Amino acid sequence: MQSLRLNALHDLLASPRSTEVDPSRKITGFFAENVFDLKKAREFLSDEAYKSLVSSIKNQTKIDRKMGDQIASALKSWAETKNVTHYTHWFQPLTGATAEKHDSFFTLKGDGTALEEFDGAALIQQEPDASSFPSGGIRATFEARGYTAWDPSSPPFIVEIGNGRTLCIPTIFVSYTGESLDAKTPLLKSAVALEKAAVDVCQYFDKNITSVKPTLGWEQEYFVVDATLASARPDLIMTGRTVFGHAPAKGQQLEDHYFGAIPERVYAFMRDFEDESYKLGVPLKTRHNEVAPSQFECAPIFEEVNLAVDHNILLMDVMTRVAKRHNLIVLLHEKPFAQINGSGKHNNWSMATNTGVNLLGPGKTPKTNLMFLAFFVNTIKAVHDHADLLRASIASAGNDHRLGANEAPPAIISIFIGKYLTDVLNEVEKRVGDNFDEQDEAMLKLDIHKSIPELMLDNTDRNRTSPFAFTGNKFEFRAVGSSANCAAPMTVLNTIMCDALTQFKTDVDALIDKGEKKEIALMQVIQKYIVESKKILFEGDGYSEAWAKEAEKRGLPNVKTTPLALDAFVTDGAKKLFENFNIYTKKELEARHEIQLENYIKKLQIEARIIGDLASTYILPPAIKYQNVLIENIKGLKDLGFDGSAYASQMQIAQKISEHIGVIGAKVKEMIEARKEANKESDSREKAIKYCDDVKKYFDEIRYHVDKLELLVDDEYWELPKYRELLFLR
Ligand code: ADP
Ligand code: MG
Repeated sequence: MQSLRLNALHDLLASPRSTEVDPSRKITGFFAENVFDLKKAREFLSDEAYKSLVSSIKNQTKIDRKMGDQIASALKSWAETKNVTHYTHWFQPLTGATAEKHDSFFTLKGDGTALEEFDGAALIQQEPDASSFPSGGIRATFEARGYTAWDPSSPPFIVEIGNGRTLCIPTIFVSYTGESLDAKTPLLKSAVALEKAAVDVCQYFDKNITSVKPTLGWEQEYFVVDATLASARPDLIMTGRTVFGHAPAKGQQLEDHYFGAIPERVYAFMRDFEDESYKLGVPLKTRHNEVAPSQFECAPIFEEVNLAVDHNILLMDVMTRVAKRHNLIVLLHEKPFAQINGSGKHNNWSMATNTGVNLLGPGKTPKTNLMFLAFFVNTIKAVHDHADLLRASIASAGNDHRLGANEAPPAIISIFIGKYLTDVLNEVEKRVGDNFDEQDEAMLKLDIHKSIPELMLDNTDRNRTSPFAFTGNKFEFRAVGSSANCAAPMTVLNTIMCDALTQFKTDVDALIDKGEKKEIALMQVIQKYIVESKKILFEGDGYSEAWAKEAEKRGLPNVKTTPLALDAFVTDGAKKLFENFNIYTKKELEARHEIQLENYIKKLQIEARIIGDLASTYILPPAIKYQNVLIENIKGLKDLGFDGSAYASQMQIAQKISEHIGVIGAKVKEMIEARKEANKESDSREKAIKYCDDVKKYFDEIRYHVDKLELLVDDEYWELPKYRELLFLR
């Protein structure tokens, strides 16, 4: 029987490619057609209910039961025009995926009448059986139930799977005692907290600013692989990454894939998932090839952070689903393939005011420049003061492969701001101070607004090796992993910014109270923050050895692994910070810490098992089979009277195969022992560290010998699809 791999290769080469693409349709013609946005709400709701919905979105207030009934009924009417039969509360539990449980509108009344029904109660709150979602111990000690509650700030939408259509109501997910059990609740809280702190600071500059919303534009990287080939790789299916595989002769060294023409089959897939995303209101804007072969990226127009997070999660879902229709699979893992780049998800972040100002956009006048400078410097201070939390917010088993692997930002958090702004900050630092009075006019006239946009558009002033870079009118957090929910890093970023701004206001007010002029007070505090936060700024090569040394000298943390990075969430300082702004209670932080450690352990446990299984059942058998062929050959040559030189090569290969088989067998055994040892540990942190230090080290050791075998064994015997096939055949 042929191996799964050869069958897959045969199927791939024999089957026609689906490259059909819908003739060009105008996106505006169907954008958000499956979203109950305010336009549709206006159409389906009474004036009263519409106003109540708008006000609840704007003021983040609850909707009362009576209005809830009206809105639910309108939602149902709208959904029925689209042949929807079921609805679900859609939420983001801490598993990292989304959850839904579908209920039908269909119901039987007491007298046996069959009806389609959807009322306010069903819209506003549900109690899904939550006992199998991770709670980090919260539910075990308190109450078994959790409930989902409607989040009106993210509009309901319809998901189409085949012919089925389901109305999805975005909700938050909390325990019965009120602790958050999802990614969205803390994110929403952090946006509220940041809004208050930012509005307070904006008031120094513009009394008309009454609302500030954090904005997010993500850039999603991913790989696409033929599904039949992938199905012959149990590691890809089970862990999302290849645990074995020798680098192909040609990798990404030619850099010919980056921004190159998109392969036809992938293009058809992209068009397909983009159309589905547009219908769901995801405002996709760009698509292109990435650096590694078979790697791609897409990015939307930025939105308010809450919506942007939902849209990213939806997109990952849609991509995964639509890929199946094209017999492709999407890999969202941070490091699906060794030796070539992994995938990230840059988080572009800023803040927008109700007056239409981007607070990280350089202003048009000296006064708005000062506002820009205040927000710019406060971001630097926030990152400086809480670099450990930012690092923790992106920690995961998958992302550990990327951070610091000289292809992605290092695990050291630093900020790149470009030459021009470095000069500006140096100026401020030098010129302001005791003699600021005489200089203030000159200072305030800095033509920041004229110079930055041009400079930033010039790519030479961009630094790709920085984890946190200013890119002209926003900061780009580049260290986020491709499979991550952006909610986690965004929650941290919003919170630390809120902390910096709150302190800023206190400091400025103190000077004003002492009789200082407002502008001077502002400049003095800005100057103080520049001095205090300077060590987080770095313009050089973030991948270099020299930077790691320099960062250490500066006292910047460089935590390379997840179990240790997560410590930052449970320090006294972190607990105080998050409690202060009502984002997480101590209990919630500890629960989340526990969940993330468990998650890490489970991921490594699964990988270790797959490595052991594959080594024994996929790698050693073909190696032995091929060795037997060699032995037969050697024996035959000997029998015929050939001298040793005739089979020296065969002997050598057979010998090498034996050596690799021997090491693999021994290392797998040792790895299993190490796992058993780690499993004895009852403390999650200790257990995670053991997995990280004692179990994981075998992964690469075993891989080394497996990959050597791949180069020795007859191609026809090799069971696992090879890198060159996964990455280059479509
Ligand atoms: P580049 O990475 O080359 O700078 P863009 O400038 O197009 O690419 O921006 C990348 C992402 O940043 C896009 O998703 C875009 O919507 C987003 N973005 C632009 N401005 C903002 C902003 N003010 N707030 C948040 N995201 C933004
Ligand atoms: Mg970018």
